[in-house]
Amino acid sequence: MTVIGPGATIGILGGGQLGRMLAIAAARLGYRCHIFAPEAESPAGDVSAALTRAGYDDVDALRHFAAAVDVVTLEFENVPVAAIKQLAALKPVRPGARALQVTQDRLAEKDFARGLALDTAPYRAVENEAELKAALAALGTPAILKTRRLGYDGKGQVRIATADMAKAALREIGGTSNILEGVVAFDFELSIVAARGLDGSFCAFEAVRNRHEHGILRESRVPSAAARSTIEAAIDAAQHMAEALDYVGVFAVEFFVLKDGRIAVNEMAPRVHNSGHWTIDACRTDQFEQHIRAVCGLPLGPTDRHSDVVMENLLGEEIDAWRRLVAEPAAKLHLYGKSEARPGRKMGHVTRLSPRT
Ligand code: AMP
Repeated sequence: MTVIGPGATIGILGGGQLGRMLAIAAARLGYRCHIFAPEAESPAGDVSAALTRAGYDDVDALRHFAAAVDVVTLEFENVPVAAIKQLAALKPVRPGARALQVTQDRLAEKDFARGLALDTAPYRAVENEAELKAALAALGTPAILKTRRLGYDGKGQVRIATADMAKAALREIGGTSNILEGVVAFDFELSIVAARGLDGSFCAFEAVRNRHEHGILRESRVPSAAARSTIEAAIDAAQHMAEALDYVGVFAVEFFVLKDGRIAVNEMAPRVHNSGHWTIDACRTDQFEQHIRAVCGLPLGPTDRHSDVVMENLLGEEIDAWRRLVAEPAAKLHLYGKSEARPGRKMGHVTRLSPRT
């Protein structure tokens, strides 16, 4: 196992806030980061040693990027698998193509979870109106029609209250590669953020209780107040998924927790995750440092938590409250340096700590 030591350059695909917080953590350990992203604005590029602005299909730019870095990782899971494969022929890419292939496609992801004997929402693949009608007859309503690919933060989803909405829902979502999910009557949502090291070691952060609004994460809190058996089942499921993918790095699995304490996998993110931002302020090793450690082949750090914590996202114009928040003694403010506060856009987050209970 080759350790990639401090002084090396870590290539990160994606230029958003997750890349920014990875680059900050990498810098603390003496690494340089080189960001590769197509967008003009780059919260990650702003704090990194180098930035390549190019599309993920630009094979020349990818080749130059690979030559300039020692290891490649990502902060955005929808990088085309072809780009990952091209890079992997030149430099280690962690996590690898298989993790992306599974998690980029909601159908493949659910099949994967079921293949490991984990529960999920009931689902059916849907390519056309006839299949949607059959799926609605099988799963009942309410249900959610989702695009198989490229959905995030509630985008690419349509709720279907009654079967006669089928045609309109298909029109609204557009495209043909979809999945219908039965609505899970969950008690609450829980996520496990965890890391798997290059040597196969596994380490989970404490389970997180999440609240979403309009499909976007609003708030995360720890401790989660979930039953011990629920937390153990969720951590076991996360470990099982990571091992089946031979995963390296930090990842998150989001679960629905049912009234009786059982869990259903919602989705897996092959990257650091919004529901792990609280670890920056409340843990000995945070998720970003942990990811850098994992992809560089360093030992995973201790993840114990010293405080109770609530993390709240600052969406869109909520960032305008920064003057009040920065003056609030119990609040730790994190801003991502984005210039335009579009509705629902993640502009920053605030964590509030209290003594550990
Ligand atoms: P997703 O992007 O699929 O994770 O969906 C975002 C949020 O929408 C989830 O965190 C849930 O709050 C809600 N949601 C998605 N799918 C379902 C489902 N099958 N049943 C109930 N709620 C869901």
